[in-house]
Amino acid sequence: MCQISTENKCPLCGNSNHCGVNDIGGCWCGKIEIPMELIEQLPEQGKACICLGCVKASLAARGGQVSFCADGG
Ligand SMILES: [Zn+2]
Ligand SMILES: [Zn+2]
Repeated sequence: MCQISTENKCPLCGNSNHCGVNDIGGCWCGKIEIPMELIEQLPEQGKACICLGCVKASLAARGGQVSFCADGG
């Protein structure tokens, strides 16, 4: 049995994470690099997506930017 997240709230800030893992096109979270330090903060890894706001905030704190994978690279 595979467990798919049904949690729509960001585990870090509680805002909606707009996760689309159940969508045909997949979720935005699968297209960007989530900082490992954010993932380590999750109480239950793999349960819910981190929201884009938290990802951006973490990256900005490190002086980086959100980098979406370009199609066809
Ligand atoms: Zn968040
Ligand atoms: Zn997601």
